[in-house]
Amino acid sequence: MLDIQTIREDFPILSHQVYGKPLVYLDNAATTQKPRCVVEKIEKGYYNVNANIHRGVHFLSQEATEAHEEARQTVQRFLNARSSDEIVFTRGTTESINLVASSFTDECMSAGDEVILSVMEHHSNIVPWQIQAAKKGITIRVIPMNDRGELLLDEYKKLFTDRTRLVAVSHVSNVLGTVNPVKEIIAIAHEQGVPVLIDGAQSTPHMKVDVQDLDVEFYVFSGHKIYGPTGIGVLYGKEEWLDRLPPYQGGGEMISSVSFEKTVFGELPFKFEAGTPDFIGSTALAEALRYVDGLGMENIAAREQELLRYATDRLSAIDGIRIFGNAPEKGAVLSFLIGSIHHYDMGMLLDRLGIAVRTGHHCAQPLMQALGIEGTVRASFSFYNTKEEIDTLVEGIERVRKMF
Ligand code: PMP
Repeated sequence: MLDIQTIREDFPILSHQVYGKPLVYLDNAATTQKPRCVVEKIEKGYYNVNANIHRGVHFLSQEATEAHEEARQTVQRFLNARSSDEIVFTRGTTESINLVASSFTDECMSAGDEVILSVMEHHSNIVPWQIQAAKKGITIRVIPMNDRGELLLDEYKKLFTDRTRLVAVSHVSNVLGTVNPVKEIIAIAHEQGVPVLIDGAQSTPHMKVDVQDLDVEFYVFSGHKIYGPTGIGVLYGKEEWLDRLPPYQGGGEMISSVSFEKTVFGELPFKFEAGTPDFIGSTALAEALRYVDGLGMENIAAREQELLRYATDRLSAIDGIRIFGNAPEKGAVLSFLIGSIHHYDMGMLLDRLGIAVRTGHHCAQPLMQALGIEGTVRASFSFYNTKEEIDTLVEGIERVRKMF
């Protein structure tokens, strides 16, 4: 059991007021708030351990290098990767997917080859493939879903052809909350000899992820969604795959030798980390991972499921509500519309009551098209949210509903 009141004290922003009302922060799928230890890690990093890494012989540079490499090992343990060489620091999920989309298609795909995505992907797992598709003539195929927001695995199996080269799907939908059966999705792809990329932006903050158990080729996530800083994220890749792929960007740090005639790229993971990495961000991300590990991923998952059940029960009782995403396996996200009230109006009026929710298409326009809507209101929860905050949300929605 988590002591929520004590935990909330770790997050100073949660006791802020907006418009003279206590902040009710229910936009955790967009970004999470930061515990004190993460912010302090950044401050201490810049005050005490700030020197460019990997290149320096001097004391500070070596300390900073060690801290960065220790952070990589923390991520390795967090994902249960076999080796820290399989952990590449990036700017976040989006950059990680762009890296794979670019390097994988360069190495492994030619005109007419196919990649399988799902209908519920975030734009960051669609657009990078479209950019490559336009350049290289590859084709995108899409796994459909049912009314509850579950991917149709029988339809998925039918999408494989002898031109399928990669499957790329999200672990948890940022709109519907659906927890996709990624282990099964991966196993099905492997039966066809096809590697898989999983977008873990919405899973890693909420559940234990074990990349070896999943047997996944590529797994990506963002620091800022898991209580870490913005501007840092992770690409996990199986060593044999990262070895095989060409670099994404060129520059310092990623080479072993350079001459105008020939450049030899560096070893893993440096081959994919051109330029000065965010070596303060990596250590702060590691701090965030230690923080959630300290709370226990199982405790976090149990707490968030309790909040989701409570919120679903309470919101379901509101007149005229439509909830999008009713899969039995669901993360702590509630997307909804009330009658004909526009999602922006609902969001703006809730904001005036101190309640932060997200409105719009949530960077998932193809999913909105499949649902036949333009957007939703989305409340997304973290372990630090309370049932009282959900009550405030429900009262707020009722108030807005009565105004219309
Ligand atoms: N994928 C999913 C499922 C997401 O929810 C998000 C963020 N909303 C992203 C990718 C992109 O993450 P980032 O902006 O941190 O790169």
